[in-house]
Amino acid sequence: MAATIYYDQDADLAALQGKTVAILGYGSQGHAHAQNLRDSGVQVVVGQRPGSANYDLAVEHGFEPLPIDEATQQADIVNILLPDEVQADIYREHIRDNLQPGNVLMCSHGFNVHFGQIEAPQDVDLLLVAPKGPGHLVRSEFVAGGGVPGLIAVEDDASETTFQIGLAYAKGIGCTRGGVIRTSFAEETETDLFGEQAVLCGVAAELVKAGFETLVDAGYLKRVLEEIQDGTFARNWILENKAGAPGFKARRRRERQHPVEIVGKELRKLMSWIDDKVVE
Ligand code: NDP
Ligand code: MG
Repeated sequence: MAATIYYDQDADLAALQGKTVAILGYGSQGHAHAQNLRDSGVQVVVGQRPGSANYDLAVEHGFEPLPIDEATQQADIVNILLPDEVQADIYREHIRDNLQPGNVLMCSHGFNVHFGQIEAPQDVDLLLVAPKGPGHLVRSEFVAGGGVPGLIAVEDDASETTFQIGLAYAKGIGCTRGGVIRTSFAEETETDLFGEQAVLCGVAAELVKAGFETLVDAGYLKRVLEEIQDGTFARNWILENKAGAPGFKARRRRERQHPVEIVGKELRKLMSWIDDKVVE
């Protein structure tokens, strides 16, 4: 792949030295970023409303959660790790007016920035660091000495310093141990939304349902069951293997040529917790 990938040696935590990072929200991503950054020696404040299990968890983890506006005021770098659908309102009410010139405003999904729901004030750069995995994995991989690969993007007018802060942040949460790919807000938003909404929550589920209904209607699953019960499947499978499994191997070779397998192989190399052994 032609994309630029950054690793630990390309990122310097010194870019975060003397700076305070506010993690707004202590949910899936928030609890992982806050703890990983702290373990990496970064000064972290947590912005989390009281009265919820996430507030108690932040306290249990040794943080002293502040209201979102206060956490923003204390920080140089502010990462909004709230659900995407509430970010814009909370930004306008509690974050925007507490940002200072020179601060960096961060997110881990480009939705609100790309679609114009969040606009940074002048002299505040926008930065995206998005681990490509759920928060519990971002934390557990980090603790195990590994890291979830991620994406990094800055807006066109952001400074080189902001990009270096992004790399340091990605290192602080463990992403550069896996590899961080440079992208744009638009690309991250489109690929993440399409993968999640169309493939993961859309087509995958619908395909299983439609496939099941179509096949059952056509008597297919019944036929497969009969073939298993009357020994047809077993006989064919035994004969296939006696002959050195030519049909099975040919099919596997064919499937491996599909672009999704070729790209997938490259990406899995970045994910240390996946064993990408090829079975011949
Ligand atoms: P969660 O839903 O896990 O986090 C919710 C956090 O936001 C909680 O701390 C919650 O507090 C707080 N919150 C929710 N509603 C409000 C509100 N109205 N006012 C104040 N606080 C509120 O979010 P995620 O970690 O899943 O997502 C955060 C960002 O990370 C999003 O931009 C998402 O797209 C991105 N992302 C998520 C990934 C994932 O796997 N989850 C992967 C990569 C990126 P309370 O407990 O009080 O409700
Ligand atoms: Mg998403």
